[in-house]
Amino acid sequence: MAIRKAMVAGNWKMNGSIELVKDMSDAINSIKSPEIDVILFPPFPLVSAMIASGVITGAQTVSENTPGAFTGEVDAQLLKDLGVNYALVGHSERRSIYNESSDVIADKFARAQSAGLIPVLCVGESEAEQESGQTEHVVAAQIDAVIKKLGVAALKDSVIAYEPVWAIGTGKTASPEQAQAVHKFIRDKIASLDSDLAQGLTILYGGSVNEKNSELLFAQPDIDGGLIGGASLKAASFVAICNSAK
Ligand code: PEP
Repeated sequence: MAIRKAMVAGNWKMNGSIELVKDMSDAINSIKSPEIDVILFPPFPLVSAMIASGVITGAQTVSENTPGAFTGEVDAQLLKDLGVNYALVGHSERRSIYNESSDVIADKFARAQSAGLIPVLCVGESEAEQESGQTEHVVAAQIDAVIKKLGVAALKDSVIAYEPVWAIGTGKTASPEQAQAVHKFIRDKIASLDSDLAQGLTILYGGSVNEKNSELLFAQPDIDGGLIGGASLKAASFVAICNSAK
């Protein structure tokens, strides 16, 4: 038996509809299996419908603050009370479009966790950083921002998603070997602080995963599943990706 349970998560970004919740939940509920956790991250207005459909549900972001005067923000505890189980923190679109720093992302991680949500910490380098050999440095700094603020033990009830920015929504995927090397780097880095925690930690790959490339990516020893964007909006593709992780 694999050391870690497979996980496939779908990030709908600012896409989706009530009809898609219905189609996708029917498809996912028909392949439910103890071998894999399937989670969907719909936009906020669809969260309640997704929970009601029986699919494990995540939020695409959470506020780093407790309730108060933060117009437009969404509180982690409220999401937990609704039945949300996971929260993405540090997705590259939040980092680049909304200028979320690694420091703020660590605060969001802490707030999600203290409300009982499982944070999915997204990390990854840009194309320029990859080309200049900075991948490990960038990924390590993004993880260290959480470790420095909260301690390594905070990673116990979390998931890490390695998503090279140059692969997100571009159709360019990291090769299985390239992705495995970064996943191993992440696991080894955390193992140097807490080996048991690192062995139990789910690390997902994200970046143009589709039903044609998922099987080889998920077969890598340190890749425990995927965070899927575009292909999580098509039931047939997403189900095929989930099945390839079993
Ligand atoms: C994502 O948004 O996290 C993502 C990986 O997108 P895509 O699969 O479309 O590259």
